[in-house]
Amino acid sequence: MENIRIQDDLYNYVNGAWLETTVIPNDRPTTGGFADLDVDVEKTMRAELEDMIAKNTYPNDCLKNACKLYSAAIDVKRRKREGIRPALPALKRIEKLNTVADLNRHLKDFALDGMPLPFSFSIEPDMKNTDAKLLYLQGPSTILPDTTYYKPEMEQQKTALLGMWQNMVKAVLAKTRLSEEEQNAYIADAIAFDAVIAGIVKSSEEWSEYTKVYNIISMRKAVSALKPLKFSKLCKDLFGEAPAKLSIADPRFLDNFGKLFNEDTFVQYKHWAYINLLLSCCSLLSEELRDLGSSYRRALTGVAQMPCVEKFAYRLAAGTYSEPMGIYYGDKYFGQAAKADVVEMVKEIIETYKTRVAKNDFLDPATKDKAVLKLSTMKIKMGYPDKAEAIYDKLVFDENASLLTIVSTLQRIKREDDNAKFYAPVDHNKWAMPGHMVNACYDPTSNDITFPAAILQAPFYSIKQTRSQNLGGIGAVIGHEISHAFDNNGAAYDEHGNMNNWWTKKDRANFKAKTKAMIKEFEGIVLPAGPVNATLTVSENIADNGGMAVTLDIMSRMKGASFEEYFVNWAKVWCMKAKPEYEQLLLNVDVHGPHILRANMPPRNFPQWYDTFGVTKKDKMYIAPNKRVVIW
Ligand SMILES: [Zn+2]
Repeated sequence: MENIRIQDDLYNYVNGAWLETTVIPNDRPTTGGFADLDVDVEKTMRAELEDMIAKNTYPNDCLKNACKLYSAAIDVKRRKREGIRPALPALKRIEKLNTVADLNRHLKDFALDGMPLPFSFSIEPDMKNTDAKLLYLQGPSTILPDTTYYKPEMEQQKTALLGMWQNMVKAVLAKTRLSEEEQNAYIADAIAFDAVIAGIVKSSEEWSEYTKVYNIISMRKAVSALKPLKFSKLCKDLFGEAPAKLSIADPRFLDNFGKLFNEDTFVQYKHWAYINLLLSCCSLLSEELRDLGSSYRRALTGVAQMPCVEKFAYRLAAGTYSEPMGIYYGDKYFGQAAKADVVEMVKEIIETYKTRVAKNDFLDPATKDKAVLKLSTMKIKMGYPDKAEAIYDKLVFDENASLLTIVSTLQRIKREDDNAKFYAPVDHNKWAMPGHMVNACYDPTSNDITFPAAILQAPFYSIKQTRSQNLGGIGAVIGHEISHAFDNNGAAYDEHGNMNNWWTKKDRANFKAKTKAMIKEFEGIVLPAGPVNATLTVSENIADNGGMAVTLDIMSRMKGASFEEYFVNWAKVWCMKAKPEYEQLLLNVDVHGPHILRANMPPRNFPQWYDTFGVTKKDKMYIAPNKRVVIW
């Protein structure tokens, strides 16, 4: 590793020694950077819950319930004793279905209980009127991680993965009362049903253009396409009244629904649903079933061992009571001083962004004004919310029930609550991420950015780090999230979060050309795990580039700025070692590029990179000035 020069490979220069010696834990697909912070948060919060339980004192009822759920989940003896039994009533509900009419009779409860249906839907803001909600309809997910795996050129991988899936299902079905013959028939039917789904639903690359999920159709049209299912009645049962219109997120799916689901394919559906339901229950049954039921996913991500029962119990509790947990974490571990400091940084970055937009050379003044307006109205959610949403108070359960029953009950309460609010205005104060999550996001339909407390730590951010380091860490990430307001997707939404074209034709064409240039910059790159999909990752690559542009701008005006510290910390935050299987999976499904590219691609577009390290034509991290891409 000593031979690596920063001019050739920033990522390995900074992280190489670590990458060589670090071992990925057996129960995780990655280690380093984000994953390390996540492990720390998990350790901290798990100890907190265990402490509350030991002392039998709780800061509030929500955390008391979270602790109760944690205790129910770590009770392995009880789960072992019960075996598959807690799942039998739900499986029976599927077994009892003989015709489509039977399913129609139970459709409402199937939807409320999250039973597998031949379609799925979500309630999201109406992209053209984001104060109101809209139903977005789409197909079920496929067994393989993406539709591309079903293409002839992926035949080998497809066979291998489906084989692994079948082995898992066989082992799980053996725990039921089905005969071996029935088990085989169920599996064959599920695979046949899945093959049809794979042929009619979107790929990850198609989903990455999220403006394309907005395709308004009338309820009448949806009802006719979803026949023989009684969709309008289902909506009436769930929302009190069926909406007049909805969005079909995946039009190809709806057009072909008749091919997937009809009286003739009903048995296939039934067996597919049976297996899917059973698999979704596994993690809440015995440890043996939790292990079996996660084997396919683990094979896909290269994880040898499932997380221990304490980690599993913690994740279940933290996921179910996420907002109260995040508030507790934020309150205790993220100080007000740090919050004020980071908010200041965000404001400065937004102001700098405005100046950059005003100076930019490919937009008309009217379009620039609109972009600046979008920046001026952008809302900042920093750390954690003041108060958890009311729904968390409603998440109560009977401690004597099985873990599966407890979780099913809680999920149904959540769904009922969401459905009851279908006609209520969108709550833009809602937080997209809880305080203990190591992540950040931009929401185009609210025009807001969220930075949970958990990401506001070193190497991203620390009061103890230099300002240059913080700008190369959290600063560039803040700039990244802001840039999502202006990436190839975000650019379609206005300052209120409505999908609304605020661009002139000419500006739009210029922007498209720049987007293409960004795709070109990543095209043809092949890593040891496989080729990079430049189209799938373009919005994230635009955001990384924008985040770097705006923070380098601040650095250039800053007294005592160290560009070396900036770039080194930038490379540090992307430090990650992953299982090869997981790297392959991400290349196929993740809109984010591989970390080595996130570290090494953006710098080479900026003069500061060349000036700081004397990078020239002879170095690997050089690109000719006319090929450099800077959009924002
Ligand atoms: Zn992003």
